[in-house]
Amino acid sequence: MRIESLLIHGAIDGDETTGAVNVPIYQTSTYKQEELGKNKGYEYSRTGNPTREALEKTIALLESGTGGLAFSSGMAAITAILSLFKSGDKIIIPSNLYGGTFRVIDKIFKNFNIQYEIVDFSRLSDVKRILESNKKFSKIKAVLIETPTNPLMDITDIEEVSKLAKKYGALTVVDNTFMSPYLQRPLELGADIVVHSATKYLGGHSNVVAGLIAVNDNELWDKLHFIQNSTGGVLGPFDSFILLQGIKTLGIRLDRHNQNAEKIAEFLAQSEYVSKIYYPGLKDSKGYEIHKKQASGFGGVLSFVINEKIDYKKFLSSLKLITLGESLGGVESLICHPATMTHAAIPYKIRQEVGIVDNLVRLSVGIENIEDLLEDLNNGFKESIV
Ligand SMILES: *Cc1c(COP(=O)(O)O)cnc(C)c1O
Repeated sequence: MRIESLLIHGAIDGDETTGAVNVPIYQTSTYKQEELGKNKGYEYSRTGNPTREALEKTIALLESGTGGLAFSSGMAAITAILSLFKSGDKIIIPSNLYGGTFRVIDKIFKNFNIQYEIVDFSRLSDVKRILESNKKFSKIKAVLIETPTNPLMDITDIEEVSKLAKKYGALTVVDNTFMSPYLQRPLELGADIVVHSATKYLGGHSNVVAGLIAVNDNELWDKLHFIQNSTGGVLGPFDSFILLQGIKTLGIRLDRHNQNAEKIAEFLAQSEYVSKIYYPGLKDSKGYEIHKKQASGFGGVLSFVINEKIDYKKFLSSLKLITLGESLGGVESLICHPATMTHAAIPYKIRQEVGIVDNLVRLSVGIENIEDLLEDLNNGFKESIV
């Protein structure tokens, strides 16, 4: 079956007992045991719940994996992945990693002596050099990538990085939040673990916070499931249901996100108020060729730098249709200011170095009418000229 149909029907198509076309919400914490040691496959909902399981099997299917896991947030999923490592292990991360991911690595896991090193993934020779220099003690256990990155839309070659990591015995973990399995499937390109903030495109309606993992190795799934059950950051049955609903329309939503973002990028490229655009769909952008090779669309997120002709603070508050807010990937357009919102946890100096400057804004293009969106941006600029 092709992905458009998989999205609708999922791994578990409705309810066998009643014929309901949707997976029921099994709002239960525990299950009746017929006799000691005999049950119907479920004992306690932290360990397993049928609604959550339908979702977990669905993300595995969509990502071409063998197993999936659902967590109470993207950060809970990332925390579970980081819990695979021990004191003394090291991971490699990109410089403009999602702020919350950097924070948990730098402020929590570092306290447990899980070390990290920052690398520019567009320079594969740098990745190789770091892996090579740590080879002696096989310290590096994982390479964590986001592509495109948030908010600067840097592109990493998933296939090449996975190959390199494998050679040095490190896992490749890909945060696929920005693309979703509809546009990019890292496991097919050689990655070991895919993680999502399902709060974004998979959910799609800004009504649930959730995280998903997919892997294609049973041993790795067992380890992650053990961590999920031990640490307990599971997704509840109701939120699992909401996510199953959202996933059904992922394909048509992303088709429209793609179209709208492309038009907005064209508009911004013509604007006298914009000095730089970060969007993988621009033919002269750095990662264009690599992105085109590994994904089937450019997604709905783009960032841009507003020049000094505009008061960017005023611009952000004068938009009427586009909402100022954190998050992305919903049907409604959201704009945010990374330096003070999503990426405030990253130290000022590093922000400047990597390009998260104060007049950078990130736009998550929704699926509204494109003319309305363009008008809103245009009016916003007009009202904020200094
Ligand atoms: C939002 C986000 C996360 C964190 O997910 P939550 O669901 O907010 O916990 C991780 N990675 C990326 C790329 C994100 O956009």
